[in-house]
Amino acid sequence: MSREKVYNFSAGPSMMPESVLQKAGAEIMDYKGSGMSVMEMSHRSSIFADIFSETKAKLRRALKVPDSHEILFLQGGATLQFAAIPMNLMGKPGCADYAVTGNFSTLAAKEAAKYGRVNIACDSSDKGHSYIPKELSLSEDASYFYYCANNTIYGTEWKHIPDVGDRTLVCDMSSNIISKPVDVAKYGLIYAGAQKNMAPAGLTVIIIDKALAGRELPICPSVMSYATLIEKDSMLNTPPCWCIYMLVLMLDWLESIGGVEEMEKLKSYRAKLLYDQLDESRLFIPHAQPDSRSDMNVTFRTGSDELDARFIKGASERGLLNLKGHRLTGGMRASLYNAMPVEGVEALIDYMKEFEVRHNV
Ligand SMILES: *Cc1c(COP(=O)(O)O)cnc(C)c1O
Repeated sequence: MSREKVYNFSAGPSMMPESVLQKAGAEIMDYKGSGMSVMEMSHRSSIFADIFSETKAKLRRALKVPDSHEILFLQGGATLQFAAIPMNLMGKPGCADYAVTGNFSTLAAKEAAKYGRVNIACDSSDKGHSYIPKELSLSEDASYFYYCANNTIYGTEWKHIPDVGDRTLVCDMSSNIISKPVDVAKYGLIYAGAQKNMAPAGLTVIIIDKALAGRELPICPSVMSYATLIEKDSMLNTPPCWCIYMLVLMLDWLESIGGVEEMEKLKSYRAKLLYDQLDESRLFIPHAQPDSRSDMNVTFRTGSDELDARFIKGASERGLLNLKGHRLTGGMRASLYNAMPVEGVEALIDYMKEFEVRHNV
């Protein structure tokens, strides 16, 4: 199977490694001689149970998830967790600290405020969410501290784990999970919508300290109760079977290139190429402040909406797709997830240089 050669810079759903798609394609009609596609299997069948446990074991190995933590594979996207987290972890009367550093943490804080008191521990909206604040103002009675590790829309990323003492850390890692090693033991809960860096849309991965289960509010729906989901091993209802299978193919690919340790080097290299180009440029202006720059989503602009539009149009004509920034930020955004080859970034840089010359700057 082949297709037109493009580089897809979409922020999500986003590109996947070609070898993963090839493998999925080869197995789509008949998975390992079963006469069935993975899409056609009962989630309770032993053949799917093997896929499920293999995926879990490989994710556990890739991120060195300790035995204290359970891995869940659920539906509902990251957005469902905006509500599930406070319902499970806030307690009553509830309070939680939220670091607001972009669009998704803003939404998460708003959702949490339906269930208890939200203390805004920091807020970077004063400078268009172009930085990660250094100071946090924590509240005494918060039952957890929430932050978003990588701000997909604004292109900023936490370079450190926030220091919040012995408070429970909850983190949205939707757009940088499996891009680098993570000290999972430091977290009460990590979650990620899979469609940015792991698998097709439809799967949400939760990594939760089992000690946190069983504290949900009485109104918490069963399908959102971590205690119930842990007890049922993600199968209270039908899990996103096909996406779980795609995740195991992604994890095999990740392992084949050297795991998250190797990926960290690669993604840092890729991002540095592009940021160096932005710093040298007399036309393009990076959005994020240097110490807060995301290695996954690189945001920039020319300063002219008309030039931005011309840049994006010219890019797609040469197969550099989906560079248009989010409507909240405008400008451009190049998402450099795990599957983006270095050649894709080099092709983008070549085009940026040409564009600059053509526009006489
Ligand atoms: C995309 C994204 C979300 C929303 O994910 P859904 O799966 O669409 O709900 C939340 N947080 C971050 C950091 C994201 O990048």
